[in-house]
Amino acid sequence: MTVTPLALTRPASVTDAFLRRLVARVPGSSGATWKLTEVYTGEVLVELPQSTPADIEQAFTTARAAQEQWAATPLKRRLEVFKRAHTLFVDKAPIVTDLIQVESGKNRRMAIEETCDPAMVMSHYLTRAAKLLAPTKRGGPVPFLTTSTEVRQPKGVVGIIAPWNFPFATGISDAIPALMAGNAVVLKPDNKTALSPLYGVEMLEEAGLPKGLFQVVCGEGPDVGPTLIDQANYVMFTGSTATGRVIGEQAGRNLIGCCLELGGKNPMIVLEDAALDEAVQGAIFGAFGNTGQICMHIERIYLPESRYDEFKNAYVAKTEALDVRAAYDFGPDMGSLVSPDHLSRVKSHVDDAVAKGATVLCGGKPRPDLGPAFFEPTILEGVTKDMLCGVTETFGPVVALHKYRTVDEAVALANDTEYGLNASVWGGDVGAARAVASRIESGNVNINDILATAYAAKGTPSGGVKSSGVGARHGDQGLLKYTDVKNVAVLKKQVMGPRGGQTYEKYVEGMLSGLKLMRRLRIR
Ligand code: NAD
Repeated sequence: MTVTPLALTRPASVTDAFLRRLVARVPGSSGATWKLTEVYTGEVLVELPQSTPADIEQAFTTARAAQEQWAATPLKRRLEVFKRAHTLFVDKAPIVTDLIQVESGKNRRMAIEETCDPAMVMSHYLTRAAKLLAPTKRGGPVPFLTTSTEVRQPKGVVGIIAPWNFPFATGISDAIPALMAGNAVVLKPDNKTALSPLYGVEMLEEAGLPKGLFQVVCGEGPDVGPTLIDQANYVMFTGSTATGRVIGEQAGRNLIGCCLELGGKNPMIVLEDAALDEAVQGAIFGAFGNTGQICMHIERIYLPESRYDEFKNAYVAKTEALDVRAAYDFGPDMGSLVSPDHLSRVKSHVDDAVAKGATVLCGGKPRPDLGPAFFEPTILEGVTKDMLCGVTETFGPVVALHKYRTVDEAVALANDTEYGLNASVWGGDVGAARAVASRIESGNVNINDILATAYAAKGTPSGGVKSSGVGARHGDQGLLKYTDVKNVAVLKKQVMGPRGGQTYEKYVEGMLSGLKLMRRLRIR
């Protein structure tokens, strides 16, 4: 690993005045603040207001008033806001990248990629929203005499709770289809990473989103969550499985819908005929991209016995050559973890594994010389299910190599987890790789890629199964989930029940033979 001393100048766009302007939209009537820090240096960037329950209620009141007008605005005009926003988001990507980097510590390559996500989501739903939201005529129960129309209505105010690992993508991208559908949004980002989503809201308003429609409240999750969920008509949550259970329980009690995008312990299966150099390169991104803090990243790699050593040697060599350091340019391959607290969690997983007999092939240690939350890209061998990192999500740059003898064994090992968010299968014969993919219990499976192909396919729903979540983002359901269905049915002439003089028996006979006739005519 290259070691370069820390010589860092904060990006020129990140001025104190800019940061103060951004956080000024967060309500905080108690005066309490949270010290939002630059991850690479630990220096305080800005005091982030913390919202009280009363502040959150007020944010919902304001959002609800704005939502009524927004829902009454013709869809075409609503969508025009997002056409303008798309241009702004792309033009201002370097500034967003600066904010993402200072607040999360990720390397610049990942930060700029993150900025693309809301623009991609806008592009997709700009072409799809009008069709999805248009009333759809369905057949009624009696041909010609009845109609039923599916009318989509906004839910009202959607509460979004977002994590720190992709603050701009999860905070803004999930709001876009909700807003297009005519809802207001109240977003609670993670305290650590509130800056980039706040700038996203500012850009949306610059593009013409009505003021008040998109509110941001801040605070620790357990303080803000209960009030937010009590006020919301729907909750979109991205975060850990443990918190997802808490959110899901409260949404259930309130009888509101929720979408929960949770953690993973994602496997990569390398098949015998895989192009090994590509698989190794894929595994570098899979395990160390975003410093191992991607929900869909890889923590377990299953290799055929025959190719284990070949893969291991190439993988370790490439990992040791990674350029890991703090920089606000595109140089480093990997940046920091998000915080010293998270560093302790990652370290505890590695220490626990080593104490229970795992071998560190490379990495394995914090790097305070690089910054307060740096951890080396780490490859382990001999990880078992009695180790923390053998079963639970580490969410850091730590990956374990495993051997398999048969493909059946590889599939069984990949599925031997409570999670089911993402999997990656590598093989020269795509048909055989597809057959393996079909047996993996996971909401996403990428063949000859780690995650980007599935995640960037905005037309296909992406979510987790098992303990990795409920519902999905993207695809038609990624917008329709933010709507209620109203079934508007019309009966043109009253024909139900026996007509004059007809016995009930005769009426029933006619009704039952009518059912058969309609089936034969395939009318229903
Ligand atoms: P977390 O669950 O601790 O926090 C996520 C968000 O929930 C934060 O804003 C936090 O403040 C808030 N929160 C915490 N407790 C809360 C409560 N009781 N009520 C309401 N809100 C509460 O998760 P994290 O550590 O910040 O994020 C990392 C996790 O997110 C990982 O498990 C990762 O896999 C997951 N993730 C999943 C996806 C996905 O799409 N499936 C995407 C990104 C991250």
